[in-house]
Amino acid sequence: MIKTRRFTLHDTIIITALLLLAVIRAEAMGIDRIDNRIAELLEISKNVALYRTSGEQWVNETRKTIHNLTSEIGVSEMIKVGTPIYHQIMGLTEPGDFNIFPELIAGELAKVTEYGGAELDFDDKSDRYAKRMLQKAASYLPAKVVRRIPTLVALNVIGRGWFYKNTPDKAVIKTNGVRISLHELGHAIEYSDDHLLIMRKEFYDNRTRGNEIRKLNRGLFSIGYRPNESYRSGFVYRYMGKEGGVEVFSCGIEYVFFNYRDIWHRDPEVTKFVLGSLIFYGSDI
Ligand SMILES: [Zn+2]
Repeated sequence: MIKTRRFTLHDTIIITALLLLAVIRAEAMGIDRIDNRIAELLEISKNVALYRTSGEQWVNETRKTIHNLTSEIGVSEMIKVGTPIYHQIMGLTEPGDFNIFPELIAGELAKVTEYGGAELDFDDKSDRYAKRMLQKAASYLPAKVVRRIPTLVALNVIGRGWFYKNTPDKAVIKTNGVRISLHELGHAIEYSDDHLLIMRKEFYDNRTRGNEIRKLNRGLFSIGYRPNESYRSGFVYRYMGKEGGVEVFSCGIEYVFFNYRDIWHRDPEVTKFVLGSLIFYGSDI
């Protein structure tokens, strides 16, 4: 007689664990998910005109703040520059249907900085898909900020994105989507100016002073992190708190443009810092 085997509790636990692992893996890869999200965002952005308001008082406020800045520019000034646009964008979306998307942010930034006319420069060894993703990401940034980015060797990658600056005027980026591209461009931008490196360190130290250091790699839920990578708590996602503040600006622009982990509500200070930096470096001062 053939005995049919029933699912025991033990089997169920194993199957659930395998499914969970598959989900985590898919999350880590994230390529389709991100591309789908972009398609969705592009659809929403067609309605961007609906959000437009007539009052542009924040634009004058921002210009005045920028104009009054002296050479002593620190984190608090950056936050000050980013505050009016932060409130403007928050006010453009319905609280019950909070929809932040890159085109909306770029549309507002374009009122105080110059957009368009700046192309990324690619090394001949670059992959076509990676170039396309990076160009899309760069279209969300002010022209003057894009011009800071050195010649890129753009490569495709499965999994974690990667940035490596090999010479003063050339950098390598490995990417698999627009969101990751924006993150890696963040590194390219910050390494083009010591001032921004000082800003991110200052922001990080102020935020994390006294916070305990922990390992990023915490077993099952840490696919892709190296054992020597550590972070301090105090940000919406632990990777952003990576030791030394090295991910504050890059995660910052990535999270702000895609409202990752609801950063617009959960961390207004980082959001204003990122917006302020883009306005500051995107302006003619
Ligand atoms: Zn990074």
